[in-house]
Amino acid sequence: MTSTPVQLTVRIDPHKCVGSTMCIQYAPGVFALNADRQSSVINAAGEPAERLRAAAEQCPMEAIVLEDANTGERIFP
Ligand code: SF4
Repeated sequence: MTSTPVQLTVRIDPHKCVGSTMCIQYAPGVFALNADRQSSVINAAGEPAERLRAAAEQCPMEAIVLEDANTGERIFP
């Protein structure tokens, strides 16, 4: 099976994020805490897609939403 890299869009659900910083540990090029001590996306292309996925999967609140940039299909959660 071949896998085609998927272009991901990423956003944070501010109603879920509790500022645990797990995502920043996994993908420091993408996420940073904002003035409200919640994660925000500083550069969606700042890490490879695998690290973005790992960050989303490790978020304890499932606050990181990943979608296929081409189709809009929800990838995670
Ligand atoms: S891991 Fe989830 S809850 Fe923690 S800062 Fe990142 S988005 Fe927010």
